[in-house]
Amino acid sequence: MVQSAAAVENLVVIGSGPAGYTAALYAARANLNPLLITGFQDGGIPGGQLMTTTHVENFPGFPDGILGPELMDRMKSQAVRWGTRLVEADVDSLDLSSRPFQLQADGRTITAQSVILATGASANRLQVDGEDTFWSHGISACAICDGATPQFRNEQLAVVGGGDSACEEAVYLTKYGSKVHLIVRKDRLRASRAMADRVQANPQIEVHWNRQVKRFGGSDWLASIELVDGDGRPAETLPVRGLFYAIGHTPNTGLVKGQLPLDEKGYLITEPGQPATAIEGVFSAGDVADQQWRQAITAAASGCQAALAAERWLTHHDLAITITRDNVEPEAAELPQPTTTVTEQDFDSDALWQGGSYALRRLYHESTKPLLVIYTSPSCGPCHVFKPQLKRVLTELDGAAQMVEINLEEDADIAAQAGVTGTPTLQLFKGKALKQQWRGVQQRSAVKAAVEAQI
Ligand SMILES: Cc1cc2nc3c(=O)[nH]c(=O)nc-3n(C[C@H](O)[C@H](O)[C@H](O)COP(=O)(O)OP(=O)(O)OC[C@H]3O[C@@H](n4cnc5c(N)ncnc54)[C@H](O)[C@@H]3O)c2cc1C
Repeated sequence: MVQSAAAVENLVVIGSGPAGYTAALYAARANLNPLLITGFQDGGIPGGQLMTTTHVENFPGFPDGILGPELMDRMKSQAVRWGTRLVEADVDSLDLSSRPFQLQADGRTITAQSVILATGASANRLQVDGEDTFWSHGISACAICDGATPQFRNEQLAVVGGGDSACEEAVYLTKYGSKVHLIVRKDRLRASRAMADRVQANPQIEVHWNRQVKRFGGSDWLASIELVDGDGRPAETLPVRGLFYAIGHTPNTGLVKGQLPLDEKGYLITEPGQPATAIEGVFSAGDVADQQWRQAITAAASGCQAALAAERWLTHHDLAITITRDNVEPEAAELPQPTTTVTEQDFDSDALWQGGSYALRRLYHESTKPLLVIYTSPSCGPCHVFKPQLKRVLTELDGAAQMVEINLEEDADIAAQAGVTGTPTLQLFKGKALKQQWRGVQQRSAVKAAVEAQI
């Protein structure tokens, strides 16, 4: 592909949910050479909200459903296949007051003729005292990511919320917990009838109506939650080891606050059914401007609209610098492959990345190199984000370090012994000594520096 030499980008897409990837796909196929800034920590993770769910059963084209992270891997691959360039970072600031527009991301300034805002929405927190103490030590905003961790197995768990997400998570958690309490602020569920029926028919779920979480109990791990009734009077104390938040989302519009009109909840205001915002050349896509529908398919559709509108606008103002392609048909898309669990027969003492407890035992005792161990679960979206970054680190270190991947679903005992409290957890060993441990997605550079210090 011949890249444009333009210093000013035609189009920058901010956000990598269904809206962002679809917008980038359309813009890339229109030869606009789009730059997509995926996001990293602010307002969600690369891939967006579907990285925190299991089965997506309503996205057309997948008759048997598809895992959320897998769907997002596919959208990403399709956008990249057609030439979308990715920057894996947050946009720290966006200045729409002069043209070309200016963005700060990844420690540099990016200028753009047009921008598509596809920053989606973020999970809300309760803001109860002690939340920070027990965050990742019993409290989680993602049942799907963390539900399989050993600390939650056969324990009482709770979900707070009354919508579809809360119901979905309560049902999901019955796979792991001995009992699931659903804590609902009102005397009814906001969830769809079908979802509410599933919850109420499930003998493992107890719904607590008119209740709010007031206090957390426990020392190093959540052991109980105190509930109050609608008038703030003490109600019951539940002996739960896990509390999962499903209390809605806030649109990620901080970047444009004061620059573009927002509604009372912070959603971007656009002309009804149109992606154009109040500033020409700035378009919106997905949940960031949609309090009503908030579905993957509606986000993807609005991403398509935004890209087509941006293309028209750039062409109309004679601003588009298009690329020409050496090959009309790009190479086939690359998709991430699952890690193979090795046995005595196929264990390779020099492999950069292999899976399972056998490999861990062998390398832990025998390897003289820094050893990274990542704990994952198949439905953990952040793991999908983190693993490719870690693979890059190992490739760059050119065999000087090794990785073993432990799937919590297959090796729950190993994870429990290692004190792992959620996925992804990354541990760094040298000579059998644990040197460092990280929870959640980390900057690639931080992990690389820690490993290099052990070489
Ligand atoms: C648990 C759960 C289950 C769901 N299940 C379904 C389902 O089965 N079917 C369905 O259709 N929908 C489902 N949804 C809804 C669906 O996920 C959303 O409607 C959809 O993801 C919205 O897409 P989006 O692209 O607008 O935003 P998001 O998916 O929210 O993505 C936003 C992106 O913006 C990025 N971002 C934010 N701030 C910045 C910044 N400052 N700089 C750069 N990037 C930034 C984030 O990192 C993220 O990549 C579910 C949602 C949840 C939470």
